[in-house]
Amino acid sequence: MTKKTPDQTQAKTLPQTGQDAANPEAAKPIEPTEPSRASAEPAKKPPADRVKAEKARAEPMQSLPLAKAEKPKPAKVDAPESEPTAKAPPEKPRAPAPEPEPPIETAAAATPQPAPESPVQREGYTMPSMFIVQITPELAWVAKVGGLADVVFGLSNELELRGHCVEIILPKYDCMRYDHIFGLTEVYKDLWVPWYGGAIHCSVYFGFVHGRKCFFIDAHSQDNFFNRGCIYGFNDDVLRFAFFSRAAMEFLWKAGKHPDIIHCHDWQTALVPVFLYEIYKHLGLTHPRVCYTIHNFKHQGVTGAEVLYATGLNRPEYYFHYDRLRDNWNPHALNLMKGGIVYSNFVTTVSPHYAMEAKDQGQGFGLEPTLHIHHMKYGGVLNGVDYSTWNPEIDRYIPFHYGLANLDDKYKNKKALRDRLLLADNAKPIVAFIGRLDPQKGLELIRHAIFYTLHRGGQFVLLGSSPDGQINGYFWGLKQQLNDNPDCHLEIGFSEELSHLIYAGADMIVVPSRFEPCGLTQLIAMRYGTIPIVRAVGGLADTVHDKDFSPRPLHERNGYVFRDYDYPGLESALGRAISCYYDYPQDFRELMKNAMRCDYSWKNPGQDYLNIYDYIRDK
Ligand code: ADP
Repeated sequence: MTKKTPDQTQAKTLPQTGQDAANPEAAKPIEPTEPSRASAEPAKKPPADRVKAEKARAEPMQSLPLAKAEKPKPAKVDAPESEPTAKAPPEKPRAPAPEPEPPIETAAAATPQPAPESPVQREGYTMPSMFIVQITPELAWVAKVGGLADVVFGLSNELELRGHCVEIILPKYDCMRYDHIFGLTEVYKDLWVPWYGGAIHCSVYFGFVHGRKCFFIDAHSQDNFFNRGCIYGFNDDVLRFAFFSRAAMEFLWKAGKHPDIIHCHDWQTALVPVFLYEIYKHLGLTHPRVCYTIHNFKHQGVTGAEVLYATGLNRPEYYFHYDRLRDNWNPHALNLMKGGIVYSNFVTTVSPHYAMEAKDQGQGFGLEPTLHIHHMKYGGVLNGVDYSTWNPEIDRYIPFHYGLANLDDKYKNKKALRDRLLLADNAKPIVAFIGRLDPQKGLELIRHAIFYTLHRGGQFVLLGSSPDGQINGYFWGLKQQLNDNPDCHLEIGFSEELSHLIYAGADMIVVPSRFEPCGLTQLIAMRYGTIPIVRAVGGLADTVHDKDFSPRPLHERNGYVFRDYDYPGLESALGRAISCYYDYPQDFRELMKNAMRCDYSWKNPGQDYLNIYDYIRDK
């Protein structure tokens, strides 16, 4: 399957520029009591002469045959049956009697316990050191499906650097990367977790994942909850993660751990605060407070009453109340994410703009009324990027390290990328897409970006895959169609290593998402001086500021932004980027430097989360 004879056109040398403008940090900690509202700049339409009606544009906007367009469901308009107080979990009757308890080891001897309280000093503010437990279905390095895994790892790392004690609890999957776990040891042999009126025998292991303290819950059950070869994708996923949530709480209680903060994530661990306030608080676990982070409102864990009987919550008439777990659309269903929102002390999502879109612009997939009721404890905190992994100065996967001081070495990586993908070596800019091929990511616009880029004299590289065979098949077809084009390469699959080379070697990256809670690819790309071209939604709107139309100072502008989900919208931004690359190379280089100077590390979000923890903790 040979293709592409690299033509040896001389690569255009981008000119050097003079002074670098300073880029003052703009991030501010969020106000814990109010949702943060980013002043996302709307992307304005470019001048008409810039948006030429070109051949590519003449194509009608077509849906990919296999990608169903996702329309967020409209917010339910029914008034809630009653208005609960927004700030605290609702008043509850006595918790059900605890289940009969099989014997359990209480030997916490092998468990690292939090350090005694000592004040953590930062920027003139004294905050006591806290004991924080993350309960999560994913963790970077060992069990990663998406951004959630990176967030838990990166945030925990940052919190520990600031002197707080962090422990992470996750399932012991058979498909974990055990080569990234140091010193894995069984520390609790007999944890019995209530389940369907009986109990399931579990063991708990302890190990370090790149320095993070982790407890892994291993369930010895016929259901084989966590030994299925992959993390998600099973009919009983709701029960699997309900069990994990109950097991994590049982472990905290039996091990005598009393964290200041329990931080849980997405629908998978949404029952944690429900268990805490309905069961474990009455068993003496009165100290912890819960921060709940929603990484994507699309997946909410909507299920039937069975989960109540399985986990020992029982009392369907109580939990099916609108103010508790009843789904806002289907009165016969429970919604775990809604329960997480109702019962937590604070709810965050992963960018301020997405927080607003979910509550007020129909992106909450039916949870809008719930977010309105609980708006006093809801806000957006932008995700960070782990710069010890994503940094062109030290990146182990790229052949030539570079930074602001030797930016020209980026073009050696561009050459290396072309060599690897058998692309022509010429003066054209490389436009890239990296990501899941999910309808969320804007599949029609990704496809259009390929043809538009080629038409405008650019090269295109795509790295992505989908668990959906039809979508994958569609992109395989495109790949075959473009196979002989020396300016295009589509890589259908997942490759961590190749993704690093693309971030380093490409000139631009497109992120034309329908919705995007935060988005990591544009943040990573900026660090590598690769200019993001994004749709102004969610975290993309918070982090990318249009070169031509942003109201921000010139030195803070770092990419190109468009608003409308259609071909002209995409072309308005991508076309300007390609024109700038060709016609104003010095401006383009300044833009690259602006992007590289942006600080999207965990420093600011880490402080934001600490402010929230400090606000809700039991003082
Ligand atoms: P999401 O969490 O919706 O998948 P994000 O932009 O938040 O999207 O995070 C995507 C992360 O996964 C990025 O680090 C990106 O580099 C990586 N990634 C996505 N698809 C691939 C792929 N096919 N190969 C390698 N890395 C990928």
